[in-house]
Amino acid sequence: MTKKPTTSYRAADLRTLLDTIQHAITLPYDAFDYDRRILDRTARVRTTLSALATEVGLDIPWEIDRLQRVLAEETQAAAERQAAQCARCHKQFDPSDPRFDGHARHRETTWCRRCIDNCHNGGTEHVCVICEPARYGGAPQ
Ligand SMILES: [Zn+2]
Ligand SMILES: [Zn+2]
Repeated sequence: MTKKPTTSYRAADLRTLLDTIQHAITLPYDAFDYDRRILDRTARVRTTLSALATEVGLDIPWEIDRLQRVLAEETQAAAERQAAQCARCHKQFDPSDPRFDGHARHRETTWCRRCIDNCHNGGTEHVCVICEPARYGGAPQ
């Protein structure tokens, strides 16, 4: 009787892999760039899942490492995209925009000059994330 070649994975490795996948496709709904990030992340998870489905004798710890690495890269890339744009209007900062109400970053803030100017010009009814961050779920700056 010929023994069929089987691949046995350690249960602990599989659990870690599943945890990593779960973590990969879970982001807080208010995360920056949620839609794009979820798409990026599911694409990366799919690569791992199809390897698992098709390759015999896959090195699970190696796959976990690889997935964790690409997730860290994705997180870093998202943080860089976020840092490069105004936290209020989401337009890219343009350091070469000389206008006082243009799209250059206002000093060391996370806002562009236009949003700061708009906020400072607001009437008594004006409220925005810059002057009243607590209303928008953020910490005061
Ligand atoms: Zn802005
Ligand atoms: Zn304001």
